[in-house]
Amino acid sequence: MQDIVPLFILRTRLRVMFCRYRNSAKSQLEPLAGIVPMRQLLTSSITFIAACTLSAGQLHAEGTRELHSHEHGHVKLEIAIEKNKMNISLEAPGESVVGFEHAAKTDKQKAAVAAAEKQLADPIALFVLPPKAGCTVNSAKSELHQEGKHNEFEASYAFTCTNMAELKNMKTNLFELYPAIEEIDVNYIAPSGQGAAELEPDAPTVTFVPTS
Ligand SMILES: [Zn+2]
Repeated sequence: MQDIVPLFILRTRLRVMFCRYRNSAKSQLEPLAGIVPMRQLLTSSITFIAACTLSAGQLHAEGTRELHSHEHGHVKLEIAIEKNKMNISLEAPGESVVGFEHAAKTDKQKAAVAAAEKQLADPIALFVLPPKAGCTVNSAKSELHQEGKHNEFEASYAFTCTNMAELKNMKTNLFELYPAIEEIDVNYIAPSGQGAAELEPDAPTVTFVPTS
């Protein structure tokens, strides 16, 4: 289980590399966004890596097909639970948070970005954890990354919980805070197993179901 966090970091780096390639080479293919929902690609890291490699090859070979690594309205959450620690990473398209993805120009836009960065660095406001799990925040940070015509808020949170056995679910308030979010794709890995969930405004809670 010690490889959990490095694996997530690796996946993030791969995604960023892919996204940079995509934006620099084929940004004109924007209308093709969403051909293949990313949730289908995130069922496992192996599938994810294979899909990125395949799509990059297809862009070279055909120039007609694109697999988007960020779909507007869709937020990604990666959750890793190990012993008494829980790490969460969040990726949210700027369009779904502040309503635009170009660099902030006006004072109003700059204020909106600053407010979102502050809000997204406050996991207590974003997530509701079972009180019996006794979780407290160790660290939290968020920042906006610009990549070509797109940008994305990326945040990470670290918790320590006194009774991890009680951490059976997690509700998110993201839909209420940012109504443009349509879906949150959750991938989690825990000592009891790993799984995925698609959260929606009327179903904002992920239940950590043992699969092994
Ligand atoms: Zn975008």
